[in-house]
Amino acid sequence: MKILVPVKRVVDYNVKIRVKADGSGIETANVKMSMNPFDEIAVEEAVRLKEAGKATEIVAVSVGPVQAQETLRTALAMGADRAILVQTDAEIEPLAVAKVLKALVGKEAPGLVILGKQAIDDDCNQTGQMLAALLGWGQGTFASKVVPGEGSVAVTREIDGGLETVELKLPAVVTADLRLNEPRYASLPNIMKAKKKPLETVTPDSLGVDVAPRLTTLKVVEPAKRKAGVKLADVAALVDKLKNEARVI
Ligand code: AMP
Repeated sequence: MKILVPVKRVVDYNVKIRVKADGSGIETANVKMSMNPFDEIAVEEAVRLKEAGKATEIVAVSVGPVQAQETLRTALAMGADRAILVQTDAEIEPLAVAKVLKALVGKEAPGLVILGKQAIDDDCNQTGQMLAALLGWGQGTFASKVVPGEGSVAVTREIDGGLETVELKLPAVVTADLRLNEPRYASLPNIMKAKKKPLETVTPDSLGVDVAPRLTTLKVVEPAKRKAGVKLADVAALVDKLKNEARVI
């Protein structure tokens, strides 16, 4: 079984995000970029499935600028076999990514597509669901366990107050949640080996996909600054403030 793993290049999760002065977006110039953390989990899961003999090939895909090659090299160093960059400088929305992935699924015929549950830059949590809908495939979202069987896969999902296990007919779409696994660090020898693994570049046009945005960002603002707290003398003073100032009791 071939596994397709879409990986997105995003602002590193350790970076303190700065909003552009004109409110049109966030600063990305000279900012450290990395693979979306949930996508690292997706790659790790695919690699573990291959190590367990349940998968034969792992193809990493990224839709984005030429720099997304670095993200793909990271996936290759973690254990993916080859990579495809769908190169575009356009602002790319989940629906466009899902359409690109659908086109690649048509070419590659994977048994499983494992995505991250969400990209930490746009927090959309839409791409996997849209891809499953476009393909007419089953989807197991927010996976904390993935167990392939004969022609099916059992996916344990994190839901409010517990876990749900669903069985999907293959081919299927799975999205990775935080507790699915702990991604490995790529070793230096594997980083070196990854440089020689195949990385193909295509364009959305060559796949026949229109990636023009359907949404317009009106404004991006920083969260409101929190006011400093005050220390109160006793509980009576607290009750008085809650009653008369905050008016919440
Ligand atoms: P989102 O729906 O934007 O929160 O993204 C969910 C998942 O879709 C991510 O964790 C990635 O696996 C995948 N994805 C989203 N955008 C891209 C992209 N530009 N390139 C590759 N994969 C992507």
